[in-house]
Amino acid sequence: MTDRNQTLFERAKTLIPGGVNSPVRAFKAVGGTPRFVQRAQGAYFWDANEQRYIDYIGSWGPMILGHGHPAVLEAVQQAALEGFSFGAPTEREIELAEELVKLVPSLEMVRLVSSGTEAGMSAIRLARGATGRKKIIKFEGCYHGHADALLVKAGSGLATFGNPTSAGVPPEVVQDTLVLEYNNLEQLEAAFAEHGAAVACLMIEPIAGNMNFVRASVPFMTRCRELCSQHGALLVFDEVMTGLRVGLGSAQGHYASLIPGFEPDMTVLGKVIGGGMPLAAFGGKRAVMELLAPLGAVYQAGTLSGNPVATACGLATLRELQKPGFYEALSARTQRLVAGLTEAAHGAGIPFCGDSQGGMFGFFFMDQLPQNYARVMTTDGARFNRFYHGMLERGVYFAPALYEAGFVSSAHSDADIEATVAAAREVFAQL
Ligand SMILES: *Cc1c(COP(=O)(O)O)cnc(C)c1O
Repeated sequence: MTDRNQTLFERAKTLIPGGVNSPVRAFKAVGGTPRFVQRAQGAYFWDANEQRYIDYIGSWGPMILGHGHPAVLEAVQQAALEGFSFGAPTEREIELAEELVKLVPSLEMVRLVSSGTEAGMSAIRLARGATGRKKIIKFEGCYHGHADALLVKAGSGLATFGNPTSAGVPPEVVQDTLVLEYNNLEQLEAAFAEHGAAVACLMIEPIAGNMNFVRASVPFMTRCRELCSQHGALLVFDEVMTGLRVGLGSAQGHYASLIPGFEPDMTVLGKVIGGGMPLAAFGGKRAVMELLAPLGAVYQAGTLSGNPVATACGLATLRELQKPGFYEALSARTQRLVAGLTEAAHGAGIPFCGDSQGGMFGFFFMDQLPQNYARVMTTDGARFNRFYHGMLERGVYFAPALYEAGFVSSAHSDADIEATVAAAREVFAQL
């Protein structure tokens, strides 16, 4: 039988660098041929060979209702009939802003954009404009999109300014980005002691999904908040992945339930809020947001920003999420998946642990959940890759890299979870 995925991959590679339009899709980390998606429905997608997969990526997070949810489809079809893009304001942009401000309590105003990268980059420009300062703090293993100033890893030695992680980023562009170890209180204290007066913002993934699944500890998050406040820096929550994914109040709602009065100063959103369409946002307090053009001196713009079809998709998605019991059911199913995988691995004598919040999960081939990027990277990569391909052959699609989180949607049934765990039991027995 000819493998149509392989045929398409070869054809793609002649025209598109690496055959893909975003690197992780190329399966470089796990080896093998990427699956070219033909169509998707509910919890499943079908590849170019008509093979069905249970989809635990859901477009890397946005598809929290599964694929082709009827209410979302109807909203998108209606919006498309009314016009694709106007470059002039629409009522749906206000409605979406109203929903976001209502759901995420720290937001007083938002600006809509088209990607998480754009939102994160704009949030940093705004933080710098608002504080008149240059330096930003980020953490190793957190991803905030591919803006130049954020493509940076820690330099040698502790708490140093970073080195670019990509060719084409001049060292000068990252010289004001301080890269610290996640969950490392000592480095955090030292960085503020030395540079506090120059720090415009601290940007963090509160539950870091770009190193699989690592939570900021409560003491660490508490100190991030205190030090930002003491030094006049803005605390920026990158909730592109966690926003409306881990709960209705997002990760900040979770931390507010653990740390009385907790709030970030600014929030970056994407993925779920667009329901699968190119839509993202950044927002915060009125006084800061009003520094944006056309009111203020911080420039920011976009031809397709607040696109009418994307806002219709996002709004319809957000409305479904607010139905009673939505997150309780999603969390329960996600927990069942992680517990089932853990039990199956332990049954085969394989070190394994996992964690989840709402509809986001991660698992590791190790005994204890890692607290930072260096620990995540000690995962047994060869074993993960064998597991990955074993699951893929059995029609289960996880993220094709061990440092990426997974996602369960409301379309995943108990039977899907059980089938996944049963497949894992077979694969673990062979590892
Ligand atoms: C996906 C992601 C981004 C980038 O969003 P894009 O829409 O891919 O540009 C930024 N931050 C986090 C935490 C993300 O998960």
